[in-house]
Amino acid sequence: MNGHPDAVVVGAGVIGSSIALQLAKRGNDVLVVDKAGGPGYGSTSASSAIIRYNYSTLDGVVTAWESGQCWTNWRSYLGLDQDVAVAQFHRTGMVFLDADIAPRDRTIKLFKGVNIPYEEWDTAELVQRVPGIDPGRYFPPKPVHSDEFFDDATSTLGALFTPDAGFVNDPRLAAANLAQAAAAHGATFRYRAAIVQIEQTTDGLWHLRLGDGTTIDTPVVVNAAGPWSGALNKIAGVGADFTVSVAPMRQEVHHVSAPPGFNAGGQLGPSIADMDLGIYTRPETGGGFLIGGTEPDCDALEWIDDPDTVNLSRTADRFESQVMRAARRFPDLTVPSQPSGIAGVYDVASDWTPIYDKTDRDGFYVAIGTSGNQFKNAPLAGEFLAQIITEVEAGHDHDHDPVQYIGRTTGLTVDLGSFSRKRALNAESSGTVLG
Ligand SMILES: Cc1cc2nc3c(=O)[nH]c(=O)nc-3n(C[C@H](O)[C@H](O)[C@H](O)COP(=O)(O)OP(=O)(O)OC[C@H]3O[C@@H](n4cnc5c(N)ncnc54)[C@H](O)[C@@H]3O)c2cc1C
Repeated sequence: MNGHPDAVVVGAGVIGSSIALQLAKRGNDVLVVDKAGGPGYGSTSASSAIIRYNYSTLDGVVTAWESGQCWTNWRSYLGLDQDVAVAQFHRTGMVFLDADIAPRDRTIKLFKGVNIPYEEWDTAELVQRVPGIDPGRYFPPKPVHSDEFFDDATSTLGALFTPDAGFVNDPRLAAANLAQAAAAHGATFRYRAAIVQIEQTTDGLWHLRLGDGTTIDTPVVVNAAGPWSGALNKIAGVGADFTVSVAPMRQEVHHVSAPPGFNAGGQLGPSIADMDLGIYTRPETGGGFLIGGTEPDCDALEWIDDPDTVNLSRTADRFESQVMRAARRFPDLTVPSQPSGIAGVYDVASDWTPIYDKTDRDGFYVAIGTSGNQFKNAPLAGEFLAQIITEVEAGHDHDHDPVQYIGRTTGLTVDLGSFSRKRALNAESSGTVLG
């Protein structure tokens, strides 16, 4: 100990807590600070926590599949005792309805490269396997108040099904589990502690000032501040060399009852990615059904300035848009007269792919731009950052010779340069939350 922590992680969401765990496991003295009252109270708590493997790049698919193995063995992955309550992974499968912007063939090629089990469904199989679904092709999504919204389907859809996908029942608890595991490896957490000023001193340390006037010095800072990440970069003076920008975007997820027959035989039905209508759906234990959006072109995006002042209540307008679309897909879905659901904030990167990287300021790292799709990847995000930090602090030039991560299950290599702040934008991205 030099009288200061080896690393300070700003943000105790699912990403920051995971980074803390992996840094602590490597023997670092880690301090996590969060302005909220506990772990996972930021955007993590609003997450739909869907665990799926469809991404637009091989690095993305390997990352999701390797992380998926952590969720399915969550307690042993964390090394937590039986008496600790842990988040539960529910294996429901995921139905990815055909959509030209995320071509089925491309995904299958990626799945084959990683050995991910999948099934190709034609329309008949889709209808048989998902009770109550209307397989109509309606693309492009239309505003729900337009006449075109009620146009007949132009043809029918098939789907790509991944049986090993699912969801985590309590994303906030998952972050708390990571924090608990990190603490067991010696990490410390300070809550209700906002970082308000960051300066690099001449001796190479970062000098962090908290809202209560106290200060912390450390050689390594990790920005894992979720939708507040852009603001944190700004006060630290980093970002000038980024080709990928990040910005907060408001989102809503609505809660209704599952359509009749959807949870057949007492089994939860699958999650569904429906870019054809501009929504995704996820089953919920107890017969619930979550409905989120996939940023269809016909809906205005809700970019915001400050996540602290955003309206975190669902609105009647968004509720109507998303639930009406789900009712198009499931004609027997009951549309409640009272809106219910939550609002949350994404930290959206220009190409909807996260930034896991160093910066041009020595000792300042970022795990940001998680774009509404990185809850599932939090286990590997922690490992990525710990490996990048370890190698860069030991003198490795990650910008010119990107660190390579080897997957524990697949043995496949993830080129961490694909999450660089200075990458060429991911041209394969769907430009939506689906990455
Ligand atoms: C509505 C919604 C649905 C989603 N659905 C899915 C999904 O189905 N599947 C999936 O994989 N992903 C999903 N995501 C995305 C996923 O939840 C996020 O990528 C992930 O939770 C981000 O975690 P984080 O730790 O980076 O951010 P956060 O959880 O926001 O944590 C950041 C923390 O930093 C703290 N902080 C910020 N600034 C400061 C400061 N200056 N000082 C101190 N503390 C600070 C905040 O208090 C906060 O706790 C969804 C997200 C939302 C909002």
